[in-house]
Amino acid sequence: MSVLAIRSLSKAFGGVRAVNDVTFEIERGEFLAMIGPNGAGKSTCFNMINGQLKPDSGQILFEGSDIAGLEPRAIWRFGVGRTFQVAATFSSMTVIENVQMALISHAGETYELWRAAAELHRDRALDLLSQVGMREAADRPSRELAYGDIKRIELAIALANQPRLLLMDEPTAGMAPRERNDLIALVKQLVVERGTSVLFTEHSMDVVFAFADRVIVLARGRLIADGDPAAIRNNVQVREVYFGTGKTFAGVPQ
Ligand code: ADP
Ligand code: MG
Repeated sequence: MSVLAIRSLSKAFGGVRAVNDVTFEIERGEFLAMIGPNGAGKSTCFNMINGQLKPDSGQILFEGSDIAGLEPRAIWRFGVGRTFQVAATFSSMTVIENVQMALISHAGETYELWRAAAELHRDRALDLLSQVGMREAADRPSRELAYGDIKRIELAIALANQPRLLLMDEPTAGMAPRERNDLIALVKQLVVERGTSVLFTEHSMDVVFAFADRVIVLARGRLIADGDPAAIRNNVQVREVYFGTGKTFAGVPQ
């Protein structure tokens, strides 16, 4: 059974059909890229899956349960995680405190308990920080971190919740090409170890083709292609949407 099955999902804003009758699935452990030009409907799709937007119609089946229209918190409890949503309190805490908070939240413990027990989950938090290459920064104030390092902490926070599906809408926005590649490589390594499924958007085609198991393509709200990276790279309709007929993905600016 697929982890996520999207069936005939639609959402309009006024006259704009942002997501129009979209159907696709994600298998367990799959690293699935969603690509498409700006305004294609990618974020609208993500926001319906994570509960920030209610669909006009269609189904969102997570492990067989229809989560369409549920509150974000309920969907999160089902096991759908997302990066990169930094808490308002992020910069007021140290790096490890942020990860400990996520672990406390996942365990269903209360904030009051946290106040009484600063050591709570410290070992697990350190382990997660090691996995994202940030153990040395554990006791630093989060506000001092460089942008790329914040992304790594956010990844540790997302993994603290042990999601079975991780949603990442433009996780590498604002990063240099090398950093993009490194972050997505890290995400892939960590989710493969856990068997977590991932749906992500990414502007760099190099990164998409290097790491995605499968690629789906949206254009003007419609799903126009679904296949492995090689098939998408050679798909005529996809090339037309991006660059006009005949051109290839090689050398595409990000
Ligand atoms: P993408 O993430 O692929 O760039 P979006 O999902 O953000 O695309 O947007 C899809 C379409 O829906 C665009 O035409 C956009 O202008 C429109 N849209 C998105 N969100 C809203 C909103 N909250 N209100 C009105 N129009 C929106
Ligand atoms: Mg978007």
